[in-house]
Amino acid sequence: MNKNSSNIMALAPNTSNKRETVCIFGTGDFGRALGHKMIQSGYPVVYGSRSTQISNLIPKDAEVLSHAEAAQKAAIIIIAIQRQHYNFLIPLAEILHGKVLVDISNNLKLNQYPESNAEYLAQLLPGSRVVKAFNTVSAWALQSGTLDASRQVFVCGDDVEAKQMVMNIVRALGLTPLDKGSLLAAQEIENYPLQLFPMWKFPIFLSLGLTAFFFFYCLALDVIYTYIYEKNNFSFFIAITIPNRVCPVMALILLALVYLPGIFAAIIQLYRGTKYRRFPDWLDKWMLCRKQLGLIALAFASLHVVFTLVTPMRAFVSWRTSKGIISQALNNKTEPLNNTNAWISDSYLALGILGFFLFVLLGITSLPSVSNNVNWREFRFVQSKLGYLALILCTAHTLVYGGKWFLSPSAYKWYLPNIYILSLIVPCAVLVVKFVLIFPCVDKPLTQIRQGWERNPKHSE
Ligand code: NAP
Repeated sequence: MNKNSSNIMALAPNTSNKRETVCIFGTGDFGRALGHKMIQSGYPVVYGSRSTQISNLIPKDAEVLSHAEAAQKAAIIIIAIQRQHYNFLIPLAEILHGKVLVDISNNLKLNQYPESNAEYLAQLLPGSRVVKAFNTVSAWALQSGTLDASRQVFVCGDDVEAKQMVMNIVRALGLTPLDKGSLLAAQEIENYPLQLFPMWKFPIFLSLGLTAFFFFYCLALDVIYTYIYEKNNFSFFIAITIPNRVCPVMALILLALVYLPGIFAAIIQLYRGTKYRRFPDWLDKWMLCRKQLGLIALAFASLHVVFTLVTPMRAFVSWRTSKGIISQALNNKTEPLNNTNAWISDSYLALGILGFFLFVLLGITSLPSVSNNVNWREFRFVQSKLGYLALILCTAHTLVYGGKWFLSPSAYKWYLPNIYILSLIVPCAVLVVKFVLIFPCVDKPLTQIRQGWERNPKHSE
């Protein structure tokens, strides 16, 4: 009777400015860090522990009691204890009845148990109101106040009022709660801290593989070949020349790879005559990491800009320029301005600048803070229309610069094509197929399919 009335009192709305006492079970690393932060934010904290001896590490304004005594002092109890010890809570079921239990636990592996820790806690104590929260914040971040990672705290639970109480605490600690719904979301929230850039794996491995390939390709053709056949030691090309060849090539290929899965998807939909069949797994995964591919492409393009800007500072370039001037002086003859070359160089620079500008625009609109402020149509317009325009400009930039290599026999060292020729294969293929797809005779059925029309509807078979 007494126990129940204490629960009701603790859950009553707080009309004064004084914050309600919060109980934390467990005086370990996380329990102490959270306790510190709560005391700083004005919450009286009482710990429930196996040992009531106060150590120096425990926040000095906090009380340490047995679990049963501590639980009676608060409506909200934060369980800062590993899941494998939850059994010790069963004898406390009566005291914990009606209380809000905050499960903050994490696991060591993805999907380690069949049910989430929070659901397991709710099964052990069906009379309590379990809320999942705080597991994505680290003890170190809480204690040092740096909160280097996200300030967002995912919260989920079946009891709306209990969830609100926990979200109020989260806000009071200077963090941002994000309601993820019912306790069914707990498994996903528990898996979250164990993930290591899941969407970035494929784009990063692909970029590393292609970068290594193009680097060694350039090394073979520009340094080793020149050394063997022309007896010139151009090993210093490794520092700037080769990276400045690889970066634009990578930027262009990766940008084309952002748009290639969309082309495959369109062809598959046209072939099947329906949008209601799942794409193959590889295509689904590829589509999901297009943003990451685009951001890596932008990083390569930015490096290319920086490498290009430092070109006039290079010893090799100033040597080559002065060699040209001296040879003109020795011959007592000024080379006339080659108008075609001037046009080619200005055009490829202009195309590069415009392409890079659009590239940056694409990168900016993919930031969550920006994409949240545009509607779906605006987002599609930037990412699709302006994205294709960026691809056209960057492809043209490479074509104008590297075009001369197509016909020159000196470009085929060891019968291998120049890197610029290789870099144009994927972007040109994407642009040609896209050009075919926008013909009305292809675009019309594709649009109809995407609006739900089916060539052979199942129900009419
Ligand atoms: P910890 O330092 O090992 O502390 C765990 C505490 O649990 C102990 O100090 C102990 O408190 C209590 N405990 C241990 N065995 C027990 C048992 N048999 N029965 C009852 N209580 C027992 O661990 P922690 O780093 O604080 O982590 C606690 C929980 O927070 C874990 O579930 C973890 O996944 C989660 N978490 C931790 C972090 C982090 O950065 N550390 C971040 C997010 C989530 P008493 O001695 O006071 O009884």
